[in-house]
Amino acid sequence: MIEMKYVPTICPYCGTGCGLNLVVVDEKVVGVEPWKRHPVNEGKLCPKGMFSHEFIHREDRLTKPLIKQPNGEFKESSWDEATDLIANKLGEIKSENPDNIGFLACARSPNENIYVTQKFARKVIGTHNVDHCARICHGPTVAGLARTFGSGAMTNDFKSIEEADVIFIIGSNNMEAHPLFGRRVIRAKKNGAKIIVADPRFTPTAKLADIYMEFRSGGDVPLLNAMMKIIIDEGLQDDEFIKNRTKNYQRLKEVVSKYDLKKVSEIAEVNVEKLVEATMLYAKADKAAIVYSLGITEHRHGADNVMSTANLAMLTGNIGRDGTGVNPLRGQNNVQGACDMGALPTDYPGYQKVVDVDAKRRVEQNWTCTLDDCAPGLTVVEMIHAAAAGNIKAMYITGEDPVLSDPDTNHVIEAMENLDFLVVQDIFMSETGRYADVVLPAAGWGEQEGTFTNGERRVQLVRKAVNPPGEAKVDWEIMKEIAVKMGAEPEQFTYENAEEIFDEMREITPQYKGMNRERLERPEALHWPCPDENHPGTGLMHVDTFAHPDGMGVFEPAEYIGPSELPDKDYPLILTTTRTLFHYHASMTRRCKTLDNELPMGYVEIHTNDAKKLGILNREFVKVKSRRGEIEISARVTDDIKEGEINIPMHFAEASANRLTTSKELDPKSKMAELKVCAAVVEKIE
Ligand code: SF4
Repeated sequence: MIEMKYVPTICPYCGTGCGLNLVVVDEKVVGVEPWKRHPVNEGKLCPKGMFSHEFIHREDRLTKPLIKQPNGEFKESSWDEATDLIANKLGEIKSENPDNIGFLACARSPNENIYVTQKFARKVIGTHNVDHCARICHGPTVAGLARTFGSGAMTNDFKSIEEADVIFIIGSNNMEAHPLFGRRVIRAKKNGAKIIVADPRFTPTAKLADIYMEFRSGGDVPLLNAMMKIIIDEGLQDDEFIKNRTKNYQRLKEVVSKYDLKKVSEIAEVNVEKLVEATMLYAKADKAAIVYSLGITEHRHGADNVMSTANLAMLTGNIGRDGTGVNPLRGQNNVQGACDMGALPTDYPGYQKVVDVDAKRRVEQNWTCTLDDCAPGLTVVEMIHAAAAGNIKAMYITGEDPVLSDPDTNHVIEAMENLDFLVVQDIFMSETGRYADVVLPAAGWGEQEGTFTNGERRVQLVRKAVNPPGEAKVDWEIMKEIAVKMGAEPEQFTYENAEEIFDEMREITPQYKGMNRERLERPEALHWPCPDENHPGTGLMHVDTFAHPDGMGVFEPAEYIGPSELPDKDYPLILTTTRTLFHYHASMTRRCKTLDNELPMGYVEIHTNDAKKLGILNREFVKVKSRRGEIEISARVTDDIKEGEINIPMHFAEASANRLTTSKELDPKSKMAELKVCAAVVEKIE
């Protein structure tokens, strides 16, 4: 008799966090059924979620530990052999200097795995060198919103957007990258909301706009400053809100007063009539919301961009009410959780700073240990630079694939090759895994219990539907085994299940303190902050006070810095990178047959006039070069991109955009690399 069951869980792709059911027949996941009454997606899914089951039982899943042999080939090993080798090598390198080891946590995996990863790095190894992909997606959100609002997260919940009178979207193509949030934007428009979109590309989201402002990549700060200058000049600022709820307004006024329309039209190449019209619309609305994503964060001035959106919202009193706020759309399914769990070199769980001795003491009490020091560790890109320079000797990478997803691929490869020891823990052999000394097979989505935290701070249960393949194990089980082999007190890693880890985590994570499994069983789950077990959770933040200790919001005015690399005669175009509707990074979606059939290869978007000058035809293969590398890729000739700019989706290893991008200059406030702008040239292949 056929045995069939539906297992409710959360989509493994974007930070929207849609609910779905895995359809399991005879211990195999055979399909996905949208979760009809789920509060986030209300029974709808985008193509990524709809076909998400297709990678689970792929034959190329990793099923046994692999150890690289002297001839460079991998050989299957037992778990004991692999974990002995890891414990010995990490022990050796730790004895020289614990900070010679770096960890990347996996923002795809449940909070419980991430919590154990950062605990392993800090407690077993003794380093704060632990980071994850938020650094190169929403690191500026964490830094920028923490400085302005006191909390580096989305201010409102998703449904709030439907209450807006005006929605200002900058650097977000949510119709493709976060489609089930985009559905709410469409609903808001049907309710009468006006939509403003600022983007160098005329994206599917821009096509919805009442006012579309094309502008030059990297011109975000001048554009936002000019909007604030217009508002102040016209007397449209909210004086009462500014007086009662904020600090540093005079400084904001001084800085934005320099950004007149002439200056801004030159720097940002924006149409000034549209800019004035959009500003008036935003400023005069009763409820105006800002939505942004990687389009403004992935710059060397990413935190400045974010702070400028926060300044604009505070200037007009658009905070702390439904239909308003600053709403960053987070990338990976659990990148919010990975930040919350302390997979950050500067923060313990719950954004408690490692430089704060009281925070250190609290964590030490909970972990019954003495932590070595209070100096922050290295970020992802700093670890890569340090590895290339020989200052990081070992890395332990869980579920991330920096060779594909981090800027300047050749430099990342050089760093990986320069390591004395590299452990990669993943569900498939990744681009990075090829450079590893040991590859460990991990349990994937649908094969373990735990929690994900979506972009609106909603903490949701994820459930196990089937067993992992072969000998694959859950991340926290693997790290527990190695921790004990490295001499950690067994009672500190005795977890028997994910719930025990969650319960330990919430003891030291103030935002999660009031959450428990029973409360999370409800479909609506809980939004953090949730400080005690009677607290209902917080969908809408900053209602009466901001999260700074004195309750005040802080204007953080920013001056224009601009991109680190501008076009010149050798590299005359600006290259930007994006995601698409059918792929989310690559390792999973490119193994989903339906999604890969929809979009099987990469392309470079180039404006019709630029293509004409170069004699390039639609679909013709061209060479794209930057100072770091070159790729061959099919051209997509279009009017939907600004002249002088080109765009490449970042999913395709065989024509990887990151062979071209730069990691040279980092945002000083968030250590973000400039993934969204570099100079490039397109050449016809003769
Ligand atoms: Fe999954 Fe995001 Fe699509 Fe929802 S919108 S189904 S979370 S990829």
